[in-house]
Amino acid sequence: MIHRDSTMNDITNISKQIADLINKHQNFWVTTHIHPDGDGLASMLLMKLLLEQHSKNVIAIVDDHIPRKFDFFHSFHEIITDVADGRLGQPDIVFALDASNISRLGDIEKIIPKSATLINIDHHVSNDYFGDINLVVGEASSAAEVTWQVLEYCNVKMNSNVATLVYSGIICDTGRFTFPNTSARALDICSKMVSEGASSADIADKIYFRSSQSTILGLVESLSTLQFHYQGKVASMVLSNDFMCKHDHIDTEGFVDNLLAVDGTEVEFFMKEHNKDCFRVSFRSKNHVDVNEVAKIFGGGGHRRAAGATICGDAQTVKLKIVDALETFFN
Ligand code: 5GP
Ligand code: MN
Repeated sequence: MIHRDSTMNDITNISKQIADLINKHQNFWVTTHIHPDGDGLASMLLMKLLLEQHSKNVIAIVDDHIPRKFDFFHSFHEIITDVADGRLGQPDIVFALDASNISRLGDIEKIIPKSATLINIDHHVSNDYFGDINLVVGEASSAAEVTWQVLEYCNVKMNSNVATLVYSGIICDTGRFTFPNTSARALDICSKMVSEGASSADIADKIYFRSSQSTILGLVESLSTLQFHYQGKVASMVLSNDFMCKHDHIDTEGFVDNLLAVDGTEVEFFMKEHNKDCFRVSFRSKNHVDVNEVAKIFGGGGHRRAAGATICGDAQTVKLKIVDALETFFN
C-alpha cells in the first residue's frame, strides 16, 4: 500500500486539472532542467509515455547534453537538444519536470509560446511556482514520485518501461536509497515497480557501473584536491577546466557524494569549473545545515540536503566565498 499524506487532496485536484488538459489538447512538449539528471529525465520521459498512450503528439526537449548512461530510458533517442530544431512545432501544453524555476529550463524559457499552458511538476522546496498549474510536493523523494502520482491518477497502462523510469528517477534522487528523502512511500513505489518489471540490478548496472575511464580519472583528480575546513566539518574538492578539456566525457554527477563518506563532516561541496573561472557547485549536507539556503546566497537553490549554484571567479576566490558563507554554521 502507498502511504498517503495530508497533501493528497491537493495532488488529486491538480492531477484532475492536468488530466482534463490532456484530454482537451493534442500538442505537447515535455522538458526538464539543464544539467539533466536521472530524476528529471525519467520524469520527463514518463510524462511522454503517458501522453503517447493517449495518442498525443509529444516532443521531449532539453537545452543541454544528455548523459549517455541514461540511454536505456524509453525514448531516450527521441530527446531533442537543439532549441532551434525544426520538429518542435507549436505546443498547446508544456510540462516542466523537476525544475524549481523557469531559468532552470535554459533557453527553452525563451521558446515557450505565450499561448501555451505551462505545467510545473516538481519536488524542490525552492520551487517558485512558475507554471500556470503547479504540482509541487516538497516532501516527495523525487519528481518521478510526483509524476508517478499523476500517472496513477490518469490510469497509465503499466509496463516495464514505466516501471524502469519510475524506479530510476527515485534511485537517482535518493542516492540509491541512502539519503533522508528515502521515505516509506518512495520504497513502496519502488517495490511496486520491481513487481511491474523494473530490474534493480540492470538499472544499477546501466546507471552506475558504466563510467568512462575519463570519469574515473576525473574522480581521482577531484579527490586529490580534497580539503577540510572548520575542523573537518566541511569537505571540499575541485575539478579544473584544464582537466575537463584534456579528458572527454567526464560525467561528474555523484562526485560530491563521495565526500559524504567522511566521518564527522556536515557539509560537502564540489566545484566543477565548467568554463574558465566559472564553477558549477554541488552542495550536500548531512544533518542541520540547509544547503538550499547556502546555494540561494549564490543565486542557486535545490533541497535542504542537496543543492547547487553557479559561481564565477578563480578557484581560490570561489572556495573562500563558500567557506565564508558557511561560517555562521561552524563557529
Ligand atoms: P546537483 O548538485 O546534484 O547538481 O544538484 C543538487 C540539487 O540542487 C538538485 O535537486 C538540482 O536540481 C538542484 N540544483 C542544482 N543546481 C541548481 C541551480 O543552479 N539552481 C537551482 N535552483 N537548483 C539547482
Ligand atoms: Mn529531482
